[in-house]
Amino acid sequence: MSRFFSEKFCQLTPYTPGEQPQDKQYVKLNTNESPFPPSEKAQKAATEAAAQLQLYPDPTCKQLREQLAALYGVEADEVILVNGSDEVLNFAFMAFCDDTHPAIFPDITYGFYKVFADLYRIPYTTPPLREDFTVDTAKYMACGKTVFLANPNAPTGLALSVAEIEKIVASNPDNVVVIDEAYVDFGGESCVPLIHKYDNLLVTGTFSKSRSMAGARLGFGFASKALIQDLETLRYSTNPYNVNRLTMAAGLGQLADEEATRRNCRTVMENRAYTAEKLEEMGFVVLPSAANFLFATHPAVDGGALYQKLKERGVLVRHFDTPRLSPYNRITIGSREQMDALLTAVKAILEE
Ligand code: PMP
Repeated sequence: MSRFFSEKFCQLTPYTPGEQPQDKQYVKLNTNESPFPPSEKAQKAATEAAAQLQLYPDPTCKQLREQLAALYGVEADEVILVNGSDEVLNFAFMAFCDDTHPAIFPDITYGFYKVFADLYRIPYTTPPLREDFTVDTAKYMACGKTVFLANPNAPTGLALSVAEIEKIVASNPDNVVVIDEAYVDFGGESCVPLIHKYDNLLVTGTFSKSRSMAGARLGFGFASKALIQDLETLRYSTNPYNVNRLTMAAGLGQLADEEATRRNCRTVMENRAYTAEKLEEMGFVVLPSAANFLFATHPAVDGGALYQKLKERGVLVRHFDTPRLSPYNRITIGSREQMDALLTAVKAILEE
């Protein structure tokens, strides 16, 4: 730390992204990326857009906002486009939380929520997940706090129903409820239609998972026009060109191939069922996931040791070294070949 770093940030513990190792070619199942490349339409559009990189991108993202709005059945001014959904979550903490609107999110969820809360010095509470890792929804009813829920949750993969979420939204009319739907396309139920019924609901999503564009950094938020305006105020106060020209073009290309997105999601869900079954046959306990990853533990192998041994065999999964999570590993669902490589490695480790 330099002597110039503002004292307000000295205590900050930044978010730790999953490993992106460069040392060798791993079977990479640690950061919930798609195993499939983006649509050729996305690749072609980005290549063409490269010829105009001397120009700033459209700061209003008009075309992409209109396409996305049409696809999700909302108005274009009920959409904000961002540099990965992390950015809209950042704006939501900035916009809707303060000392009188503290944040609330589960003790086990996406690790960035805590980082944003600390960054802006927002008070927050973290009700524990139940013993079975489900969200204790009663804790969020009429709670008088700004609610952040990942649905499906990470790293568990467990999903709440729209009916359960609606109760939370309806019971907190004077607070914003943010539903992070990064993984919703793999079997969850989307809350987006509820934005027309509740002016306090923000639903966030991303092109990083189901739309195979993690490297392009494209995310979005859906909410009432007034909430979107608040977020736009912060976007224009930080980086109006947050979505670059290549990403915007690729996003449009990807949206023009929704069939490919749907097909890839179906394949991931099939591979998830296949992997869960094989892991269970080997004695694993696997949480019922609605996301593109599995959260699994084995009674006879320590989670950290399994992670390490898999890494030595060239298979990368994500291990969280906290008391409740350390028996588990989070395994991204990849192609059938990648899942077979994982299963072969796991089998060999169990037989050691
Ligand atoms: N929400 C959740 C629950 C996530 O796991 C992630 C991925 N790390 C994100 C949001 C952010 O994804 P991105 O910024 O790539 O859209």
